[in-house]
Amino acid sequence: MKKITYFYQSKLYSAARNPYLYSLQLVHFMHYTVKIISVINVTHNVKRFVIEKPPGFRFVPGQATDLSINEPEWKENKHPFTFTCLNEEPYLEFTIKIYENPHGVTNHLGQLSAGAELIISDAWGAIEYKGPGYFIAGGAGITPFLAILRQLYKDGKIGGNILFFSNKTDQDIILKDELAAMLGNDAHFIISGQKDSKYDKRKINADFLKAEVKDFTKHFYVCGPDQMVKDINETLEKLGAKPDLVVFEK
Ligand SMILES: Cc1cc2nc3c(=O)[nH]c(=O)nc-3n(C[C@H](O)[C@H](O)[C@H](O)COP(=O)(O)OP(=O)(O)OC[C@H]3O[C@@H](n4cnc5c(N)ncnc54)[C@H](O)[C@@H]3O)c2cc1C
Repeated sequence: MKKITYFYQSKLYSAARNPYLYSLQLVHFMHYTVKIISVINVTHNVKRFVIEKPPGFRFVPGQATDLSINEPEWKENKHPFTFTCLNEEPYLEFTIKIYENPHGVTNHLGQLSAGAELIISDAWGAIEYKGPGYFIAGGAGITPFLAILRQLYKDGKIGGNILFFSNKTDQDIILKDELAAMLGNDAHFIISGQKDSKYDKRKINADFLKAEVKDFTKHFYVCGPDQMVKDINETLEKLGAKPDLVVFEK
């Protein structure tokens, strides 16, 4: 395991949470080269990657890393992925949706196996648990909530949290059984593109939220495709949610 240190370390902690500085690439994180330990299928197009954990590495559940594949033509091609394991585990884990684009990083990740090397940065990101509320996820947008919900479940503090998890088909639902086991009846699965699904087929819109949300003063955690996050955040605000209690990746 190799550790690469970049400049600007003194600015790391104050600037790491500033998306403006981050977008200007003024913030440089520590980077670590780590080996894949195992890869298994989670759904037809989602894989679980277990990787080596650099000594002392920590993240806040919900945070992500900049990840690239340690091959000459891929190592500068960094994409964000979320840690989905618990901090206390001796490894790191990602849950990654693989797209078919042959030039895409997830497609190449999907072809890797144990022993291949990845490069990850220190953890960053705005999504973290701030108190009980409603988690609204679309597709791979469940990943930050997996880390948060797993930690809450382990700590015996998951009560009072409700999940609305939207996917196109039943087969797309990531870790349905685990989510249902952790949340019981508070895990709601919504299917948008399969007429014969046994799950709720409504769209997550104003009518849905008015019907399902009992308390708009709670926290809301929203993660999914950009348009979904934008639409839901606007709708929540119109329905009375307090903007500072809506948590999403900005
Ligand atoms: C903070 C953060 C954390 C993330 N964590 C995870 C995670 O844990 N697991 C996970 O599976 N994914 C996660 N993602 C998404 C992940 O980064 C992308 O899916 C990945 O970068 C796609 O790379 P690719 O080269 O395979 O994409 P491509 O193969 O180029 O495209 C993948 C898909 O995205 C669409 N797409 C590409 N670019 C855009 C765009 N600009 N706007 C809209 N659609 C576009 C394409 O049409 C295609 O359907 C995260 C994203 C962010 C911002």
